[in-house]
Amino acid sequence: MSSFVQEVKNKFDAAKENEQLFSFDSTTVEKESNGMNFKITLVPALAQKKSNQKVEEDGKKCNPFENPEPALVVKELDEHRILLNKYAVIPNHLIIATKEFKKQSEPLMPNDLYESFKVLKDFGSSQPALAFYNCGEESGASQGHKHMQVLPLQHESNPQPPVKKLFDEIHDRHVGQIYAINKLPFVHVILPLDNNIIRNANTREELTDYLVQMFFGILDAMFQQLRENAQPLNTSYNFLMTQDFMMLVPRSNEKASIEHNGKTFEFSVNSLGFAGLLLCKTEEELEVLKAQDNLMDILTQVGIPWDPKASDIEAARELAADAELA
Ligand code: AMP
Repeated sequence: MSSFVQEVKNKFDAAKENEQLFSFDSTTVEKESNGMNFKITLVPALAQKKSNQKVEEDGKKCNPFENPEPALVVKELDEHRILLNKYAVIPNHLIIATKEFKKQSEPLMPNDLYESFKVLKDFGSSQPALAFYNCGEESGASQGHKHMQVLPLQHESNPQPPVKKLFDEIHDRHVGQIYAINKLPFVHVILPLDNNIIRNANTREELTDYLVQMFFGILDAMFQQLRENAQPLNTSYNFLMTQDFMMLVPRSNEKASIEHNGKTFEFSVNSLGFAGLLLCKTEEELEVLKAQDNLMDILTQVGIPWDPKASDIEAARELAADAELA
């Protein structure tokens, strides 16, 4: 276990013991859709939990990241604080919040990327983790103060997010190139990171420069896809990052709604949904999710379905480029 994991664990255990942090019981089932083994986690305690947004006496919403509870602070960095998630579905779930107030709709800045990746690295190879950022109104974020999150992945044999399997199937994959995965029916971009460059980056600046170059490359590609799919460019999006890849998914809605046996169910989806990790609060909701023909439909509802005309645009552009070359 890395010293960082030990430090996080000690802090988590102490905060839980003193009831300054709540760790919820959960059960997980798997359901395959389009080749992805979704994990659906049922957390009954979340149905009892009030909204994250507490309200102060004067009616203003509390900001839990402005003056965080000391029991939850793992580390003070230059511009950020690493905090424990107070309501943990998965133990040692970390939040990397900016010290100064910034909006959750702002794009990631070089230091945000560096600190998030540093936490992934500090977790070490024995504890793979997923970093994510829910950016904008429809992204599934519950707090408006800028925060990235890092979730340690649990599974004895394969501690990877379910989407990694589809990423691994990308044929003839090259680091630094931007791809879309055929089996994902919504607009997205995914990019393999170069582990050699990451390993050989000897300074903070070198690693930051590489991450920034990759992030702004993939962000640019996402805007290009939004243009091709006739979508506004100020769209919310989800960002996912492991030590192996970066992924961006633009959003159309915060919640998916499903009709089942004459009732309407709403599911809030954030970055984790696109990693293949879905959450529900009641047995009934779990049954609804299990009964779906294809869980990708939920992701397409909150994402942006591919515009069939977009491939015509792509083909037309290729033809135009060919004509220029001829
Ligand atoms: P999101 O909902 O994606 O914006 O993530 C915010 C996270 O902050 C949620 O997972 C909450 O459980 C967590 N949270 C809410 N209040 C606190 C708090 N006081 N301290 C630490 N984490 C919190």
